[in-house]
Amino acid sequence: MRHIAIIGSGPAGYYTAEAAIKQWGDDIRVDVFDRLPVPYGLIRTGVAPDHQTIKAVSRRYEKTALTDNVRFVGNIAIGQDISLADLQALYDAVIIATGAPHDRDLGIPGAELPGVIGSAAFVGWYNGHPNFADLDPDLSGRRAVVIGNGNVALDIARILSKTRREFEGSDITAHALDAIEGSKLDEIVILGRRGPHQIAMTPKELGELGELERAAPVVDPDDLPAVTDDDPLEPGQRKSVQWLRQFAANRVEKPLRISFDFFARPVSIVGKTRVEGVEVERTKITDGKLVGTGEFYMVPCHLVISAIGYRSAPIPGVPFDEKAGRFASDDGRIAVSPETGGLYAVGWARRGPTGTIGTNKPDGFAIIAKLAEDIASGAIGPEGKAGRPGFDALAAERKLDIVTFRDWQKIEEAEIAAARSGAPREKFTLVEEMIRAGR
Ligand code: NAP
Repeated sequence: MRHIAIIGSGPAGYYTAEAAIKQWGDDIRVDVFDRLPVPYGLIRTGVAPDHQTIKAVSRRYEKTALTDNVRFVGNIAIGQDISLADLQALYDAVIIATGAPHDRDLGIPGAELPGVIGSAAFVGWYNGHPNFADLDPDLSGRRAVVIGNGNVALDIARILSKTRREFEGSDITAHALDAIEGSKLDEIVILGRRGPHQIAMTPKELGELGELERAAPVVDPDDLPAVTDDDPLEPGQRKSVQWLRQFAANRVEKPLRISFDFFARPVSIVGKTRVEGVEVERTKITDGKLVGTGEFYMVPCHLVISAIGYRSAPIPGVPFDEKAGRFASDDGRIAVSPETGGLYAVGWARRGPTGTIGTNKPDGFAIIAKLAEDIASGAIGPEGKAGRPGFDALAAERKLDIVTFRDWQKIEEAEIAAARSGAPREKFTLVEEMIRAGR
């Protein structure tokens, strides 16, 4: 019998657990840890609340979670309640699947001003992550700036633009729904430091901007390259650019504008006591490289949300690539020894914040293949680690308040029961509330 600890119960964690069961069947025990009392990580608190079909993948993780040999161990923070070294002493392998919960630094003056919010916090707020439930963003201004040209920037612009009716069927938290309904915004500016050909937005998500009830996308036709320049683009990217062309050609007037400002690099955020604007340098692409033109202008605004990518949270003692913002590993393998077993990273913790939810499936299966190799080669010591019973003894000794999958099911039932009409659930946003509902 082998014992695996997976840290993180998001997509990477559960695909890895699924792969372990496929590989070893009844000869494996997998404990999936999460610092929150609720599972599914990014699916619950990252994926946009109006993208319920994407969120439905959690049913697949639930199947894995309910198999006899996999166990959810919620409300346990590695590094606080139990150390990594404790886990390594108990399990044959520890797999870090903690994602990338922190925002990449904007690194410009003024970024610390009130009214400047990172996408991790903002997305966490509308999705009911307990760390950000009390964010209370000030939506009383007329203009918000979203920095970044990726899908997260699109999510944020879309969520800020929707009407209450358009949130029907979503699980946006009540506090965010009320705040967005009361918002005074009439323009959301999406700043991209490069051009339309360099966006990291996907076609389906861009297309959604064209279907909003009270908001419409605005693209300056002068920002678009000649149509024939689209030919060498990869088909998905070409489709995305076609959406931008369509927005530029068919300008629709609605009360809220979502304005794309391309070739616009933020250089500072200005304001006395809170954000009053973003100073931007006009850029151009020369020989495929971004260069500043020396032309500067101001975008006055009351709120700035940076959506420029994420970083993993380091774990003391685990090698970390500071520049890339993820764990340092050899394709997922961090360290292997007969004494401490195998230590691996998977998902965003391994590769950084790229790809779709589905990308984590091959990632999880690949890491289990590596673990199987390391067991077969003897790089990991013989069977005999204490595993699950050993962890339970330690947890009892330390009086750790574990939330089980059964507890989570009770939390989920309570969330479903509390849903407003038409919504799948109303999420608890406080850890204490979750734990109470699970008991
Ligand atoms: P992303 O796709 O990497 O996009 C980050 C954007 O920020 C890029 O446009 C980048 O521009 C820009 N940027 C980076 N540093 C900047 C700076 N200092 N100043 C200005 N702009 C800067 O990251 P993401 O949007 O956070 O998304 C993360 C991953 O989740 C992606 O794989 C994404 O596709 C995925 N996701 C998918 C969905 C969906 O499928 N519905 C939804 C949300 C997220 P440069 O290109 O110039 O660096």
